[in-house]
Amino acid sequence: MRKAIGVDLGGSHVTAGIIGEDGTIVGQHELDLEDLTFSAVVEALSTVVRKALDDAGKAVAVGIGSPGNIEPHTGIVRYSPNFGWEDEPLGPTLSKRFDLPVLVANDARCATLGEYTFGSGAGTRDFALLTLGTGIGGGIVAGGELLIGNRYGAGEVGHHQIRPTDGFICGCGKIGCFEAQASGTGLIRHAYAVAASFPRSKLLDVPRENVGSKKIRKAAQAGDPHALAAWKNFASDLAIGVANLIAVVNPARIALGGGVSSAGDFMLDAIRARVDELTTMAPRGTTEIVIAKLGNDAGQVGAATMAMRGGLTTKPSLQGDDGS
Ligand SMILES: [Zn+2]
Repeated sequence: MRKAIGVDLGGSHVTAGIIGEDGTIVGQHELDLEDLTFSAVVEALSTVVRKALDDAGKAVAVGIGSPGNIEPHTGIVRYSPNFGWEDEPLGPTLSKRFDLPVLVANDARCATLGEYTFGSGAGTRDFALLTLGTGIGGGIVAGGELLIGNRYGAGEVGHHQIRPTDGFICGCGKIGCFEAQASGTGLIRHAYAVAASFPRSKLLDVPRENVGSKKIRKAAQAGDPHALAAWKNFASDLAIGVANLIAVVNPARIALGGGVSSAGDFMLDAIRARVDELTTMAPRGTTEIVIAKLGNDAGQVGAATMAMRGGLTTKPSLQGDDGS
């Protein structure tokens, strides 16, 4: 079976998976990132990819999912606010080191390709993935094609504004972006926003840096009134973004991933009715809303799939099996 290396480049660590053509993960290597300058990240990527290549025996290519606006056909990172990079030749630099094709694309688009091909999107032709983490990463498949956009910005669902007058300030500078309201970080902000109504609540009685969305989600699931109030506002904002996505691309299925989605039915039940109310131009109840299947592995699986196909595409490779 052909194999490729699929890399998920995050803001704090990098994971390189050895991925088979059928989407199976054969092995994984991980490294923490301390220095986010381009040269330091290239060194870290080289180290972890080298280990994965040694383990893999033979790999046909390397695929990297990186945050930022990225030209998939050149592998150039046009800009990445997470790293503070502009016009960095990530693909070409690594390709020289490994003497293998190195393909680079946005991490959320890679995750979407992974989920569409081997996970929660399989069997559909119109699919969207929303990953609810520190921000909201997204990707859209329409009519069987992964949307890239004119300048590689299609699928940046996290930065459409849903509360431009009364929302939280987003990392991008706008007010009330979907990701400011409905990511894991958004859930924490909702907990602080309603805190005055729960003077006896112990939910936030720790330093702010120790408050994670997991704590609030679990407290909500356990019935804590403060956490439930935050959860209700979070779910209401999440429903707005999901309904907007239905209005724009009318997918057959929307998958929700990321840490917050561990709540499963507790989250889906909290948004479905509101999504229906807000869906006015597509038949209500016809968009399946599900939990994503591949979890944190979606990005690596998608990046490796891109590498094997020679591009960020939903079309299976035309190359034959090379017998490896
Ligand atoms: Zn934003």
